[in-house]
Amino acid sequence: MRRKSQVTLGDKMNLIFLGAPGSGKGTVAKKVTEKFSIPQISTGDLLREELKKDSRLSWELKSYMDSGKLVPDSIIVPMLKVRLSKKDCEKGFILDGFPRTIAQAELLGKEGVKIEKAVLFDVPMKEVYDRIVNRRTCKSCGAVYNILTIPPKKEGVCDKCGGELYSREDQRPEVITKRLEVYAKETEPLIEYYREKKKLIKVDANQIPEKVLQATIEKLRE
Ligand code: AMP
Repeated sequence: MRRKSQVTLGDKMNLIFLGAPGSGKGTVAKKVTEKFSIPQISTGDLLREELKKDSRLSWELKSYMDSGKLVPDSIIVPMLKVRLSKKDCEKGFILDGFPRTIAQAELLGKEGVKIEKAVLFDVPMKEVYDRIVNRRTCKSCGAVYNILTIPPKKEGVCDKCGGELYSREDQRPEVITKRLEVYAKETEPLIEYYREKKKLIKVDANQIPEKVLQATIEKLRE
């Protein structure tokens, strides 16, 4: 049964959330999944799950991720295909962190994955850098804080589950710079790619999370 707060967006809604690291797209995706009953599929989270295993693959992944480089398609694409084949994706999904290159976007098309809308979370580069440097993540439940703007009640401790908050390896200043360079070179061309396909929605993400969420929902309903 559908909860009162849930709304629908048509029969199937396959969405892409696009934006620089730190643009807040993951946080908004979490909220939108609750509203529209479609799962958030974060390729970064899928990869971080794999990192928890002490395997050869996890060591290979770590070297890419800790240095801010993109993981090869030969690793990420099969993982994503498995995830998209799960039952909860039948009514749609939010892809958060994929595609990150034109080649990945084209791969979706080749695999027969139809995308309805690509939502761009637009934030100035200086702002995203500051957001990532100050970001802390809960080791247990994955909740995200910002020590300046959304601090936990007790330093280093998650409000939701009491878990330990940490700063990820890829949140070191030199790695952030690399991730932002990779974004500008590899991922930004996707903005034009989806604009040409008339699928791009732009949301001003340089405002408080509640406002970004509200703007996203309004634009998706249009
Ligand atoms: P994220 O949590 O989305 O910022 O992703 C963290 C890291 O995972 C990135 O810096 C990449 O190393 C890797 N990653 C996530 N998604 C992709 C993707 N679509 N293609 C290649 N690498 C990815």
